[in-house]
Amino acid sequence: MRFGVFLYSSSSCEWPILGWQWTPERRMASELKKMAEGGLKFVIPLMPFDFRVRKLETTGADALKLLISKCHEYQMEVHPTFCVFFNEERAEISSIIQEHPDWGIVNRRREILPLLDPGKPEVRDFIIDRILGIARRYDIDGILLDFIRYQGDAVGDVCYCKRCRDDFKEAYGKDPLELSEDDPLMEKWDDTRRQNINTFVQSFYDKSKKVRNDLSLSAYVWARGDTKGVYQDWPVWVERKKLDWISHGCYTDDMTHFANTCRRFVSTVKNKIPAYIVICPKSSLVNPDKYELTADQIVKQMQIAKEAGVDGITFCYWYNLRPKLADVSKIIHQWSS
Ligand SMILES: [Zn+2]
Repeated sequence: MRFGVFLYSSSSCEWPILGWQWTPERRMASELKKMAEGGLKFVIPLMPFDFRVRKLETTGADALKLLISKCHEYQMEVHPTFCVFFNEERAEISSIIQEHPDWGIVNRRREILPLLDPGKPEVRDFIIDRILGIARRYDIDGILLDFIRYQGDAVGDVCYCKRCRDDFKEAYGKDPLELSEDDPLMEKWDDTRRQNINTFVQSFYDKSKKVRNDLSLSAYVWARGDTKGVYQDWPVWVERKKLDWISHGCYTDDMTHFANTCRRFVSTVKNKIPAYIVICPKSSLVNPDKYELTADQIVKQMQIAKEAGVDGITFCYWYNLRPKLADVSKIIHQWSS
């Protein structure tokens, strides 16, 4: 099994992603050393929402370059992660939409939201080009795509921009805004959105392999996957082998729920590509159910995941794992391959 960790900004910041807290270089190096000594083999730094690299405020050094050189020194791989279509309202993604107002997703009330529209080829190409620009310039080992989905919960049913409506009307003769829930064309409208996401993944994979054949491509997916409003049909990506490995989130302190999720995930992936489960030692910002796992509970989830047959575990995030690393690193070392 292999073990890795997501890096994010926080008060105990390990990675200067959003500029909230810039970590001195020495501190970054000593944190990375701790991760490596704990048995972690790869890190997944969250990248800025405009898909661009930042410089450290302290020294002006290139943050990603520095991270890569330190990680490689400690024999850890670097797989930057990018939030592809969905973001909370951040200045960076809004700046992309400000430059291209027609790239934002539009809801039923015709409001433009700070989310990029997966239905437009030029939007998909823009995201792919920016991310692969980083793959060209930096010695990264892989890329992990996150938020490759529509976001139904937070913003409702999308996208009803003119272009998406016109395209659908041209193909099926009806404006999607006029479809009622029981309209037979609703299935086509759902399928259109599902295909937009699938097309992005396929296109990203094919283009990335042309840029760098050695780049390991993965995605972070949801338990709910291809549900209405989300349209993240990840079993198809696995089936078509448009990912090199897949990472499945499961934020919970409920061991039965965790076990069921692991089993369902592994049986869906069916050994087609390596399956990694994400263990979150503490509830995330977006998770309404607050919890914090004890070191014993983390070990319990690791055991459940191993029994279910996962190929690896990623912890989310380092600052959640860090206080408990001493208690779990022995098992990480024992199980590491
Ligand atoms: Zn649209």
